Amino acid sequence: MARRTAINLDLIEYGRSVHGAPLLWLPPRERCDLLIVAGIHGEEPETTVTLSRAVRSCEATELAPDIGIIFCANPDGVALGTRGNANGVDLNRNFPAANWQSDPSSCRWHADEEEALPIGTGPAAASEPESQALLALLETTAPAQVLTLHGPLACVDDPEHSPLARWIADQTGLPLVGEIGYETPGSMGTWAAERELTWITWEFPPHGIEPLSKSYVPLLKSIITGASP
Ligand SMILES: [Zn+2]
Repeated sequence: MARRTAINLDLIEYGRSVHGAPLLWLPPRERCDLLIVAGIHGEEPETTVTLSRAVRSCEATELAPDIGIIFCANPDGVALGTRGNANGVDLNRNFPAANWQSDPSSCRWHADEEEALPIGTGPAAASEPESQALLALLETTAPAQVLTLHGPLACVDDPEHSPLARWIADQTGLPLVGEIGYETPGSMGTWAAERELTWITWEFPPHGIEPLSKSYVPLLKSIITGASP
């Protein structure tokens, strides 16, 4: 299998984080049909590693010409090991959906525990530089569909049940759902639904990088080389 390092990828800066880290993406060679986004929550670095390994297991010419890739939309959160960004804001509750709310959201350290910890949604919708940069990128590139990688809820969430979402569910055995099971005001998916933008959330199961890499890198490689629907 051909391999190369991420350092050789032609990554483009689309913004800066709270702490000044560059927000980077790998733009498509042609018009962006699909944008894949990992590392939105800083405590889900397995999504960044898995997506990076998928890209680095391809030759540049193998990458589909119409797919853009963001390895890590929340670099400060990954560096700090926090779900939110450096302001303590959950970027996936900071999008300007009609139901964005200023009240803190809640999160759990472990999906199977009841303890709910408060996490900020920002002083206003789209208040965070990471959210603003991603929104601007979505505006300028206008992808037809967005695939976001999360964990550890082990499902594929797409209210439209789009062909790509069905394919991921088939390949992984994960359930295809139309909602995550609880309210998510200000989430990227809610924002996208208001715009009739296809938004697929692939929630990885609660596994470590090692097994996720083995099972999901080949699937992600199929997606980024255009071999999936
Ligand atoms: Zn997440």
